[in-house]
Amino acid sequence: MLELRGKLVADQLKDKCLDFVNKYNGLLPTLAIIRVGEKPDDVAYERNIKKRFISYGLEAKTYEMPENVSNEEFQETFDFINRDPEIHGIIVMRPLPKQIDEKAMLMKLNPLKDVDCITPANVAGVMSGDPEAFAPCTAQAVVEILKAYHIPMEGKNACIIGRSMVVGRPLAMLLLKENCTVTICHSKTEELQEVSRKADILVAAVGRPKMVNSSYVKTDAAVLDVGINVDKDGNLVGDCDWDTVTLNAGAATPVPGGVGTVTTAVLATHVVEAAKKQIDFSGFKATEDSYLEEAWNPTSLSKK
Ligand code: NDP
Repeated sequence: MLELRGKLVADQLKDKCLDFVNKYNGLLPTLAIIRVGEKPDDVAYERNIKKRFISYGLEAKTYEMPENVSNEEFQETFDFINRDPEIHGIIVMRPLPKQIDEKAMLMKLNPLKDVDCITPANVAGVMSGDPEAFAPCTAQAVVEILKAYHIPMEGKNACIIGRSMVVGRPLAMLLLKENCTVTICHSKTEELQEVSRKADILVAAVGRPKMVNSSYVKTDAAVLDVGINVDKDGNLVGDCDWDTVTLNAGAATPVPGGVGTVTTAVLATHVVEAAKKQIDFSGFKATEDSYLEEAWNPTSLSKK
């Protein structure tokens, strides 16, 4: 059984980011993290991003607003960040409090800065397979892991358990783009185990600790566990039961140390790509003009 460790993939993405920063001396790809209130999960994710960005030579700035911020004040701050030429990517910790008009924010967000795919433009781009669209980072992290470990996708049966807009649905589009035959399952799927046992690639994005056990897994399948849950003893666990899933799987991601590790690395690459797109408009020159065409191509990971 091959353990699909996220660190290997994250390190490859880190090298790409550091190369970019060295070549584009003087340009600092910068992410704005917009957070309203202090939800512990949001604060932990933000801390994680900041730590990662520092080691990748990038910047992440927090814009924090109180839980009771008015819609007017939120939108004003948002507009300022959205227009700031020194901010290349934006993520908004959601859901936002009820008084905030989230739809208005989504309609305004510059798609070039939408590094986690929340604007209608990027959602449509992912649906149509547009290579320029930023996919949600977690969904793309799954594909990056499969590529980095050379797990065949073309013609293979992929099953995703979960149909959220953040993971299941966009991931289905990304796997379809890789020529997988994709099945999306959810809470109303009948004979779930039977369906998932047909999959060569099984993705668990359910949000139920250790729900997926060996009875869901075809022999030698690749199992990617997107779940991040805290069990009753306070331990971080995935949606898969590692001890039994690994009896059948040919390869599997651990939790922690799997998909989550790659998610923030993908976010970093999106901010770098966003910076590149924005400087292309502004005329900023790299020290070597041909660099990006040759080296900045996340899919080249699979050729390494
Ligand atoms: P959602 O709660 O939005 O979606 C869960 C999905 O699982 C739904 O489609 C639901 O079906 C389905 N589901 C729930 N119970 C069952 C069941 N018994 N059988 C089959 N399907 C079921 O979750 P997210 O997609 O946001 O997140 C999924 C997991 O991934 C969570 O553990 C979350 O913490 C984690 N996560 C990890 C990230 C990372 O970076 N690694 C990032 C984002 C999320 P239905 O639609 O019918 O309700």
